[in-house]
Amino acid sequence: MYLKSLYPPVPSTPDVNFHELLFTSPLPVPIPEYTLHIDGLTGRSRTRNEFYEEVRDGATALATPTQQGGLGLSSENGDVVAIYSTNSLEYMTLIHACLVIGVPFTLLSAFYTPYELAHAVKTTKPSRIFAHPSLLGKVETAAKDIGLPSQRIYLLEGTAPGKESFAGVLQQVRARTLARVPVKPVKKDSIAYLMFSSGTGGLPKAVMISHGNLAFTLAALVVYVKEEMKLNASPTPPPHLTWVAALPFHHSYGLHMFCLRGFIFPTTFVILPRWDTEQVLDAIPRYRVSMLPLVPSVAHQLVFSKKFANADLSSITNVLCGAAALPPVVRKKLSGLTKSAIAEGYGITEATLSACLQPAPGVIPGVEPVLGSCGILLPGMEARILREDGSDADVNEPGELWLRGRNVAMGYYNNEQATKETFVDGWLRTGDSLRANANGTFFFVDRLKDTLKISGAQVSPTEIEDVLRSHPSGFILDVSVAGVPGTRSEDEKVPRAWIVLSDEGKRIGEHVVAKELDEWVKTNLSSFKWLRGGIEVVDEIPKLSTGKVLRRALQQKYVEQRVPH
Ligand code: AMP
Repeated sequence: MYLKSLYPPVPSTPDVNFHELLFTSPLPVPIPEYTLHIDGLTGRSRTRNEFYEEVRDGATALATPTQQGGLGLSSENGDVVAIYSTNSLEYMTLIHACLVIGVPFTLLSAFYTPYELAHAVKTTKPSRIFAHPSLLGKVETAAKDIGLPSQRIYLLEGTAPGKESFAGVLQQVRARTLARVPVKPVKKDSIAYLMFSSGTGGLPKAVMISHGNLAFTLAALVVYVKEEMKLNASPTPPPHLTWVAALPFHHSYGLHMFCLRGFIFPTTFVILPRWDTEQVLDAIPRYRVSMLPLVPSVAHQLVFSKKFANADLSSITNVLCGAAALPPVVRKKLSGLTKSAIAEGYGITEATLSACLQPAPGVIPGVEPVLGSCGILLPGMEARILREDGSDADVNEPGELWLRGRNVAMGYYNNEQATKETFVDGWLRTGDSLRANANGTFFFVDRLKDTLKISGAQVSPTEIEDVLRSHPSGFILDVSVAGVPGTRSEDEKVPRAWIVLSDEGKRIGEHVVAKELDEWVKTNLSSFKWLRGGIEVVDEIPKLSTGKVLRRALQQKYVEQRVPH
């Protein structure tokens, strides 16, 4: 089945630094000055213009040669900037400063364990790391592994003995009135950022998103908004919304929604360091938050929290939910918050942000939003739904979703093999099974790929297997990890390990081994990757003659054992 977006086409975008587009409105509406960012904990705020000035000073601090007091970063030197922090105003400034100077940035989850952090920095090899003060210890160790000297690690904010901070360098630049560096001209295929994704399998990889991908995404958003304006016969873009920005900036959802938007359609972002249900429920009435962006796992926490029923949520007008399927019970509880439907969509890091979204009612004649669907293709997107043998699936028949559009990433950084497997003739293989009805509305069916999605974040079975194999006692000869149904939601799978014991493992005994391996995973990996599906000892791991593990056979056997026919 081949489908093409029902929206008008997206105009071509020139070779331009994405920064230039962000601060130039394509709409014939003057942009008033407004509060762009508010620190939700301290109340510190800045306007759009103040932010713009800070970004340009930040860019000057990064790119001015070291002899003149800057950090001397440039794309010609192959510099890559890593940001390792929870959400903050400084985080936003640094991202935009990197865009201005055309130096790629890579975002490291503040919740990484040392093991996860080591893999991320080895993959992207940053030449500078800007870290939150509380994460300095962890980052110094990981930097040593890639031979990055301690002087190249900066604080993003705050102070620590012997450490310079981005905020500090920025202040110095302002005090010395250094000449402002110009916006760096870039090509469409210049890398803007590297973001981690496990793709259809294997270890987490760094997805290369270009300035061209970002320019297209913005142009597509403008097409989308103009259609809504036409429908409402409105000369102005959507109303000024106040968003709570508590989902992590290191994921494409948080990065795009909070950090790369709000300039051409005025928006205020109330920034919280991380998702904390109590803090979110306090911030909503305090700042009259109107837009609540969620992923299903935090939506679940929110609606089942003790405070939810009595919280003042009267300011909320819009709810957005993405990154995974929203369980109906949670949708029902959330739907009481707004008159308008909860906007659900389908996104994937390799397509920059999203591919499908529920349309606003009436925008596309004959296509109304369908509850529980992923919506329709966004402007500029094409899709195919293919059977296993590569033939086209019929209407409503599930198959693998392939996507094409100028938002499809350039590939995985320094990983040709994985790039070849996932990006085929301009198409992105999503590894997801979806179906589409005759109107072009998509429905998520299942994940065909090994990668799991837990609490809105990706989990790579290969990464867990590697950790199990790295246990120093050599308890296991072979291992495979795959997702099995969890207890929290029928849609969410949890990781389970099947292991073959070595002689040493047999000598110690399977209960002790399982307990030790479970602890080992807990020590090395973030909590959403823990083996909540258990550990099972088996005689052998089923494999094809090529060595490919038959994860499906293990999963099926587990399900059959659990639910006797
Ligand atoms: P990420 O790259 O972290 O955004 O993860 C992308 C993956 O999340 C997709 O390949 C899907 O497996 C999953 N996903 C995204 N949106 C949805 C949705 N609406 N329903 C179910 N799964 C989704």
